[in-house]
Amino acid sequence: MKKLILFLLLISLFLSGCSDKTKNRDVLSKVQGENKIVVGVKYDSKPFGFIDKDNKLKGFDIDIAKGIAKRILGDENAVEFKQVTPSNRILKLSSGEIDMIVATMTISQSRMNLVEFTQPYYKIGQAVMVKKDSGIYSTKDLNKKRVAIILGSVSEKQLRLLAPDAKIKGYKTYSEAYSALLNGKTDAISSDDSILYGFLYDNKSLRILPERYTKENYAIAYRKDEKSKKFGEKVEEALLDMQKRGEITQIKRKWIK
Ligand code: GLU
Repeated sequence: MKKLILFLLLISLFLSGCSDKTKNRDVLSKVQGENKIVVGVKYDSKPFGFIDKDNKLKGFDIDIAKGIAKRILGDENAVEFKQVTPSNRILKLSSGEIDMIVATMTISQSRMNLVEFTQPYYKIGQAVMVKKDSGIYSTKDLNKKRVAIILGSVSEKQLRLLAPDAKIKGYKTYSEAYSALLNGKTDAISSDDSILYGFLYDNKSLRILPERYTKENYAIAYRKDEKSKKFGEKVEEALLDMQKRGEITQIKRKWIK
């Protein structure tokens, strides 16, 4: 029994040593050694990251990540995608579970304290989506109404100023907020116009209010530490190259109708 305990202890020490080594490795060397970039993306935010009818992960952010992998590792398929949500993506990045986030992530001052952002690759504005027959025509009409937001996203702060009496409820995912709207459990969803259009495209009984109440930029995020520096520079270089060659414009044309 004692021998078994000692054996298990040695094994766990060995394994923790290994994971420490992975954690302490320079990110660019790790990515090159494993020949893949581990990317946090959305699975429920059409057309940026979503599962299509053939069960394949597709979208704008997926193509951006592939373009980066093509430039850093010479192969657009040298990526492993992991699902993230607005509330867990920074945690997954900080813990080393993913190497970068390409997930409709807005650059904000508070996030800049936690992660490093590349240059922007897409512009959006916060908007509100309602049912066509809801009688809601502007953000002012949201007072006393139930409004869904996605936990961990940036929409809440500005919305509270525009409609102080709105009953704001946080949902973990877009799919849950969307179901709540369809089932009458919420009167509106407040989020990025770019993501709301993805839902509208599939459901003509909804409408998006004309008002945009923020101006935001999506960017790729990577860790702020020294070990991510060289990797971050490569990502930045790759994104710039995609921009110069018109690849980002092509991706926009492919996904944004
Ligand atoms: N772009 C917004 C944000 O970063 C909302 C969408 C999202 O979180 O993915 O907070």
